[in-house]
Amino acid sequence: MQRAQRMLRARREPEATRERTPSAQSTPSRRSHARPAPVIDLRDVRKTYHVGNIAVHALRGVSLRVERGEYVAIMGASGSGKTTLMNIMGCLDEPSSGVYRLNGLDVRGIDDESLADVRNHHIGFVFQSYNLIPRTSALANVELPLAYAGIPRAVRRRHALRSLARVGLADRVDHLPSELSGGQQQRVAIARALVTNPALILADEPTGNLDSTSGAEVLALFERLSESGRTIMLITHEDEVATRARRVVRIRDGSIVSDERIRMGEGVR
Ligand code: ADP
Ligand code: MG
Repeated sequence: MQRAQRMLRARREPEATRERTPSAQSTPSRRSHARPAPVIDLRDVRKTYHVGNIAVHALRGVSLRVERGEYVAIMGASGSGKTTLMNIMGCLDEPSSGVYRLNGLDVRGIDDESLADVRNHHIGFVFQSYNLIPRTSALANVELPLAYAGIPRAVRRRHALRSLARVGLADRVDHLPSELSGGQQQRVAIARALVTNPALILADEPTGNLDSTSGAEVLALFERLSESGRTIMLITHEDEVATRARRVVRIRDGSIVSDERIRMGEGVR
């Protein structure tokens, strides 16, 4: 995290002093009593894909702030722009226009290698299809993000074991993905997402391939993570999945159409 922040800071400061008023630009984290920056801060984000002569407006001006510790479901029909939004939030793709700040860092114009660094340090990804490496143990799969980050082997192992224990798989660490159920594989993927201690967990249809029992286990796990203070963005087209979150943002044709907070106890359990 520090490396990325240093790099971004160096890149942003000349612009800041040149163009903006000091009060609008002060870095919140440097003031002793200021609130931390939102984990997600999207401002009028648009994404247009060009396919031949046709422009597909996948996002049409999305503004969204998510504070640390929130549990948000992004809900919308197929084709509404959910994955496009997730790709932008996950720094896997760039907006056509608008600004995205992740933990206060404006990620515009960052080179690919540094973006990979930002992703590795700030975000844990969970996908519908688990994306585990086959013929590789659960433990080695979970260690992988730490290996990319250059963490020594013994430390990696300790963190990965702890992460697997947290998702209830302490007794499956040497199993291959093919030796695990779908629900267990998704829990390995969640352990992998957690192992770098990221500020943000981004999950795109994480229960989409699971039977209802395994899906419920995964949702229960997200709830526990949320209660322990993680920031979670869960993308889904299923109402009963969305109502497990504390806030539901609905998206239609690339625009946010509603943004509701669910009070404790009101969600469908
Ligand atoms: P969702 O995840 O909600 O199903 P997507 O974000 O995948 O929606 O897609 C939103 C819209 O953008 C759709 O109309 C889709 O066809 C289009 N789209 C998504 N990715 C691309 C792409 N790489 N090139 C062109 N059009 C795309
Ligand atoms: Mg999608």
